Amino acid sequence: MIALNMLVTLEKPYPAFVPKRRSPNTDSDFEAVKQKYDYRCATCGSREGEMNLRYKNQRTQLQRGHRNPKLPLEGDNIIPQCQFCNRADRNYWVYDERGRVVGVAAVKPIARSIEKGYLSEQEVESLHKYLSRRVQRRRKRDGEKPTR
Ligand SMILES: [Zn+2]
Repeated sequence: MIALNMLVTLEKPYPAFVPKRRSPNTDSDFEAVKQKYDYRCATCGSREGEMNLRYKNQRTQLQRGHRNPKLPLEGDNIIPQCQFCNRADRNYWVYDERGRVVGVAAVKPIARSIEKGYLSEQEVESLHKYLSRRVQRRRKRDGEKPTR
């Protein structure tokens, strides 16, 4: 794919175009993201280099966090998160631009919530009904329009 806004001609790139800055994972891009967030973790607000707000004997290090773990770590999908908020289990969650959890990206935390009793039997029943209806609808749709 050719991004035409970057080109003066097909032979010569636009003079102001700096390819390195277009790369989503350069330090300067992450620096700009951190600046936008005032050098704070989007999720807990801990400030880079200062003591962490939750782990008070640890200095905050900001890392590139996914908003949605199913999408590439680039552009708007990057939020700064401290080393504690950006843990391995982050892949379970979808965050908004303010670092708040807005969705679930994996089955595991739902299953665990059921096992631990965080969801009531009524909620589990409701989830079961929802999923059954959804699966039926998809099967019906796929049956009417078979995939080639
Ligand atoms: Zn944090």
